[in-house]
Amino acid sequence: MLEKIKKIKNEAIVNILKTDSIAELENLRINYLGKKSEFNQILKGLKDLNEEEKKAVGPEANKAKKDIQDALEKRIDDLEEMVDTEKEWIDVTAPGKKIKRGHLHPITIVQRDIEDIFTSMGFEIADGPEVESEFYNFDAVNVPEEHPGRDMQDTFWISKEEGREKGTGTVLRTQTSSVQVRYMQTHKPPFRIIIPGRVFRQEATDASHEHTFHQFEALVVGKKVSVANFLYIAETFFSQFFGKKLNVRLRPSYFPFVEPGFEFDISCTNCGGKGCSSCKQTGWLEVGGAGMVHQNVFEAAGYEKGKYQGFAWGFGLERLAMMKYKIDDIRHFHGGDVRFTRQF
Ligand SMILES: [Zn+2]
Repeated sequence: MLEKIKKIKNEAIVNILKTDSIAELENLRINYLGKKSEFNQILKGLKDLNEEEKKAVGPEANKAKKDIQDALEKRIDDLEEMVDTEKEWIDVTAPGKKIKRGHLHPITIVQRDIEDIFTSMGFEIADGPEVESEFYNFDAVNVPEEHPGRDMQDTFWISKEEGREKGTGTVLRTQTSSVQVRYMQTHKPPFRIIIPGRVFRQEATDASHEHTFHQFEALVVGKKVSVANFLYIAETFFSQFFGKKLNVRLRPSYFPFVEPGFEFDISCTNCGGKGCSSCKQTGWLEVGGAGMVHQNVFEAAGYEKGKYQGFAWGFGLERLAMMKYKIDDIRHFHGGDVRFTRQF
């Protein structure tokens, strides 16, 4: 009897290990442990044995039953695990999915470059509101109402009542110079600041004009600040920004908030001054305006007239980016076409 139990058990375990399907294992369970199985017949027959035989065979039969059950369960677990592993299988040779990464807008890149260069020269960065009072945008920088200088900039007015009190209208700032007096009212010279920011002009757009663009303003105020200081800083800045030695040239010009005022050119970044089509053979490129801060501006900030000197200069960020990256139309910057911005 014991031999028979052992034989059934061994045969069952060998068959279980050979089987690769869970349904097939279920059949084996019925065959070996089911009601009609040979093994069950043996268990049923135990009651006909004498006490001594019962003691010998009983525990062995139960142990064999348990061994078969354990083998069945272990095999089912193993098979299930194999199925899971197959599902999770990774094809390391499959081509990867291309992830689209975000990136900085060219204007942001240029602005950060400029900020880095100026802060390395000890400048601080100042900021002001884009919706600005008429006072800070115009009156404070020496452009009172009826001043012809107001016609130089076509303005988006937010509010402009007839007969309003002086400087109480509201505009979208037309220039970052609006931040000059704001800053001076809360800071005492000497200081040197840069003011990057978005400005707005109510004008028709074309390849070189936008209604919304960015300006960059530098303002240096102290007791002995001269045009020579401006020239040095401008040459240092442009040489660093374009990565080559560039000269700056001043031409007399007029801006209401400076006296004297200049327009300034830099040596052509393309030909280095020899003359080419980008500089119309002149060797120079127009970049922006500058000048010594008008004493009326200091007065508007609450400084004593004649006590301080300073220079201010400004240029368009888009223009600088266009020169650096050789972009031919300013409207690309805010056109929203990612095929353009993706190139930077
Ligand atoms: Zn040139």
